Amino acid sequence: MNYSLSLLECDYCRESFSCSIGLSNKTGWQSFSFCCPGCSGILSIELKPVLGQGPEYKLINLTINERFEGDRCNFKIVRLHLDFPTIVFDTYMPFSPYTIATMSLKNGASIDDYKSVTNELNFYSENIEKIQSFFIFYKNKRVKELLLTSKFLLRDNFYAIINLDDDYINNFSVLDNVSELDVDVFFYKSLFFISSALNDLECPDDEIRKALTYLAEIDKSKVCEFRTYLHNNKHLQSSIKTFNKIYSLIYSNEEFFRPSIFLTDYSGVGCKDSKLPLRLANDKVEVILGIYKDLVEVISKQYVLIVGLRNINNNGEYNKFKKNVHYIRNKKIVINNIAEFSSLDLGLKINFMEGCYCFDELKCVSNKIRNAIAHNNWEYDEKRQVVTFCFDKGIVDSSRKLKSESKTILEVNSDIISLFRLMHKLNVMYYLLLCFFACDD
Ligand SMILES: [Zn+2]
Repeated sequence: MNYSLSLLECDYCRESFSCSIGLSNKTGWQSFSFCCPGCSGILSIELKPVLGQGPEYKLINLTINERFEGDRCNFKIVRLHLDFPTIVFDTYMPFSPYTIATMSLKNGASIDDYKSVTNELNFYSENIEKIQSFFIFYKNKRVKELLLTSKFLLRDNFYAIINLDDDYINNFSVLDNVSELDVDVFFYKSLFFISSALNDLECPDDEIRKALTYLAEIDKSKVCEFRTYLHNNKHLQSSIKTFNKIYSLIYSNEEFFRPSIFLTDYSGVGCKDSKLPLRLANDKVEVILGIYKDLVEVISKQYVLIVGLRNINNNGEYNKFKKNVHYIRNKKIVINNIAEFSSLDLGLKINFMEGCYCFDELKCVSNKIRNAIAHNNWEYDEKRQVVTFCFDKGIVDSSRKLKSESKTILEVNSDIISLFRLMHKLNVMYYLLLCFFACDD
């Protein structure tokens, strides 16, 4: 459904523009924040559908322009939607974001499938405290509460996935004999189901199967030895704690990522298509860049696992690197074992990772962009929604070109979705190692 707010006037510069909102399938308030097409001041609209009548709405830094009675076709137009890229046009634009989305579908994709994804996202974001508690219960080993929360989050799928009856859970006491391994399995099986909303509803078993096929090629006793090493030096436990934080971070901000999920999985139009000025209806750029940085850091912590497995596969020992020397600006870098690898700077690690599990997908990890965010070395063009990441450290001589890279915020969000999916794949590998390769600890 499309709701027209007619002509709106910016309270900062008094310029008017035409505005309409396509309603998402959310039940509560829908928030839109965008910059004025005239002065670039920040404007917001909050809107809530009401059954049988027009929606309730609040305008912030905006007023309805009731004076104007002429032809509205010559005004700039802003067409908003939470689920699809928003459109800002200089003149009349007959198509809504929803219509453009349906026209741009790639072969075999359907809007109904995407609706199933947004329905799942709605459910998790409406119950974000339950997701956060699910991670806390796992961390603090509150087994009964973990199971009850998992039952709530998995809904009808709980019995097929966890296979415990209500009487057992309700009468569960701390004295019951549940092993640490059982708790890990309950937790991960639930987590994989919950994450499928961000993985295009892919069946978690497919990902597990791919990782198992990779592990099947490697000497099991050596993998167990490696697992014991990672357990004893606390890497396994600390990595799991770190990347579990990312899931609730993404779900609590899922609205930012919907249009990019649509563009990545369902649309034939790219994020940077010059003919369509696609935008995000809610661009909290600092929050989005913070998530990008956290994801890159979490993924780089997980490199240890896939490098150790690759070493076992290549040379029979997790500590033995086939290629252990790399030259950078005439400086020789030598690593003798996995501990030395783990302490390398993030940008250097990739030089020792060829042949690792998911190696091709690691290309989506940009250390340079991560550094630009961490050092506050970026600029944002609010009107075009373009972030420019600067890679120079100090002042740049005027004769030399600045080293930088620009991305639209929709592109950054698509990168975040790719990074999240990569992190999730690596988490599946951690799960298998944690739960099925325990030998001595
Ligand atoms: Zn303005």
